[in-house]
Amino acid sequence: MTVLVTGGAGYIGSHMVLALLDAGEKVVVVDNLSTGFWWALPPEATLVTGDCGDEALMKRVIAEHGVTAIAHFAAKIVVPESVADPLGYYLANTVKSRALIAAAVASGVKHFIFSSTAAVYGEPATMPVPEDLPLDPVSPYGRSKLMTEWMLQDAGKAHGLNYVVLRYFNVAGADPQGRTGQSTPNATHLIKVAAQAALGDRPKMQVFGTDFATPDGSCLRDYIQVSDLADAHLKALSYLRAGGASTVLNCGYGRGYSVLEVIEVVKRVSGVDFPVEMAPRRAGDPAAIIAKADRVRTELGWEPRYDDLDQIVGQALRWERFLKTKNVA
Ligand code: UDP
Repeated sequence: MTVLVTGGAGYIGSHMVLALLDAGEKVVVVDNLSTGFWWALPPEATLVTGDCGDEALMKRVIAEHGVTAIAHFAAKIVVPESVADPLGYYLANTVKSRALIAAAVASGVKHFIFSSTAAVYGEPATMPVPEDLPLDPVSPYGRSKLMTEWMLQDAGKAHGLNYVVLRYFNVAGADPQGRTGQSTPNATHLIKVAAQAALGDRPKMQVFGTDFATPDGSCLRDYIQVSDLADAHLKALSYLRAGGASTVLNCGYGRGYSVLEVIEVVKRVSGVDFPVEMAPRRAGDPAAIIAKADRVRTELGWEPRYDDLDQIVGQALRWERFLKTKNVA
């Protein structure tokens, strides 16, 4: 009954590993450590340093560890980078996922949880965004993830593989116990950048666009706390084990905060009034992305525990301080 977590040494994956271990599950992680860190893993998790796109390795890991379910986090995730290097993204996110799914099918693994993204919706005409909206990703990143959704759909039907696709909105915060967090150096995500500005690791930060059609002109995003997100994966695992049919679920809280609001919260919680510069829009940023978030609650029985921006920001600040002491930020 071991769960294979690809990308388990990364940001969201390491929270999933903790959630699984906390729930008494056995875990094997496959991570090539391209962006993850071995030290993000507790000793109870077995780490295989390797590539989830190596089908032979995946078959071996599945057999040796008695893997019965896979949670697939390993991916490249930076939208502008995907525009500059689309083939690299299709390799990392599509081709390697195909190899992993093939290994699962060949080895008789029946349960698969896939980290997808709100980027599959592109610039949605409806807000909040329901799962059944026509999909029209605008970046290679979104397309590379959508292709994996399609592979799962088709392989699921053909081979009796049951899956839960979770489409993440904006993931933020850190483990409430301070065991792991967002450790990627040069991360571009808003809350991490603002936390670094508050701690003096950046001289200032920028707001990318104040002329959007939103109440204060800056972009609206739906920030979901990372341990709540990991918990949605745990619930997905129970759902699949109980015989649940394959499904696709948004993961967000269903409420948007503007960039300016988030920065205000970071200033208030940190007690630091760091410099903020208004800047032009960043390429490809939609004005608002907010989840229609009821399906994950009704289908999985998931309930958020950390739906509170002050808490999320507090966790991010605490982790950023910890990284400074570790000298890896
Ligand atoms: N953002 C910003 N300054 C930053 C980083 C992000 O104004 O230094 C904005 C970004 O333009 C977007 C929002 O914050 O409107 C969330 O961006 P992030 O990169 O965190 O996530 P995304 O929504 O792009 O996945």
